[in-house]
Amino acid sequence: MTQTPPQPSRARAEIDLNALRANVRALRARAPKSALMAVVKSDGYGHGALPCARAAIEAGATWVGTATPQEALALRSAGIGGRIMCWLWTPGDPWREAIEADLDVSVSGMWALAEVTAAARDAGRPARIHLKADTGLGRNGCQPADWPELVAASLAAEAAGTVRIAGLWSHLACADEPGHPSVTAQLETFRRMIGYAEGEGVRPEVRHLANSPATLTLPEAHFDLVRTGIAMYGVSPAPEVGTSAALGLRPVMTFSASVALVKHVPAGHGVSYGHRFVTDRETTLGLVPVGYGDGVPRHASGRGPVLVGGAWRRAAGRIAMDQFVVDLGGEKLQEGAEAVLFGPGDRGEPTAEDWAEAADTIAYEIVTRIGARVPRVYRGVHDTGGAGTDTGGDE
Ligand SMILES: *Cc1c(COP(=O)(O)O)cnc(C)c1O
Repeated sequence: MTQTPPQPSRARAEIDLNALRANVRALRARAPKSALMAVVKSDGYGHGALPCARAAIEAGATWVGTATPQEALALRSAGIGGRIMCWLWTPGDPWREAIEADLDVSVSGMWALAEVTAAARDAGRPARIHLKADTGLGRNGCQPADWPELVAASLAAEAAGTVRIAGLWSHLACADEPGHPSVTAQLETFRRMIGYAEGEGVRPEVRHLANSPATLTLPEAHFDLVRTGIAMYGVSPAPEVGTSAALGLRPVMTFSASVALVKHVPAGHGVSYGHRFVTDRETTLGLVPVGYGDGVPRHASGRGPVLVGGAWRRAAGRIAMDQFVVDLGGEKLQEGAEAVLFGPGDRGEPTAEDWAEAADTIAYEIVTRIGARVPRVYRGVHDTGGAGTDTGGDE
């Protein structure tokens, strides 16, 4: 009865949903006057959108956010209730399905307003829209010069009953660099653009700007709703913002594999493609059966850390599509020994931040790219209501 279910043998990403719930509670405590949107785009940053959305809602998130409408529709079909917002729209996207699924949708320009109002007429009910302002990110959103036209057209659509302007929102460019001058400039522009829209008669339910780093470091950016992604997964947005532990967050994903082969080799033996590593003495090599096909960045060849047999080893030579090799320095480990690429760090394993450094990237990319070939194993599927223990393996 107490048997633990078999672990996927080659590799697995364990997802600790109790850690995710605790992170959501910690973030809510940071922004106590604001609602919290759990951002689960790109399959929950690699953690699984659906189980993460459910756990975040259990911990008090009242909104769920995705990039694409397809991601949002999939969550709704899977039974996620409440508010679901999606913001990355392309002409021809499923506006009518979004309206019928009661999603909140973002409108950045006149083309989107035209498509959403046409879909609302077809659906026979208004769309809930959030007007997105480009306050300086220079990516999606409406430029200040074009804002009066978009606001006027949206108000006209609201009067005609095809839309309800539920939100005014924007996104920050440099919130992960505390003190960057663009942050206060964007705040000021956002306030001005809200002021204009409200002066024209827009009555938004929510105004929102903050991502994870702004939620953690910039209370004046919290407004009515904070949109947290990376911090909810327990990963620091950037080294400048602080470590996970210093931020009171716990990494949710542990990515590990089982050593597939251990063997003695002589000195001077080349290892992996291109022989970028050559043994400098007689030694043992361990084969770790994951590679860039699983999301292990090839760019971390020669550097990526992994905890094997109680010590950190570095990927020796090239990381291949399916596997890489570590130099075990003569140690004769058993095949099947655990190789932990990253996790919370409690057992001395590296973190996603360590891999980000080894691959010259950000930890967001490390967790998000862990591939579909790696089975997710969920811990804490049933909410135990706080820091309770969990027997695990229940889904
Ligand atoms: C991804 C995203 C977020 C979440 O960002 P984090 O830094 O992961 O918290 C918030 N808002 C928008 C528009 C996003 O695209």
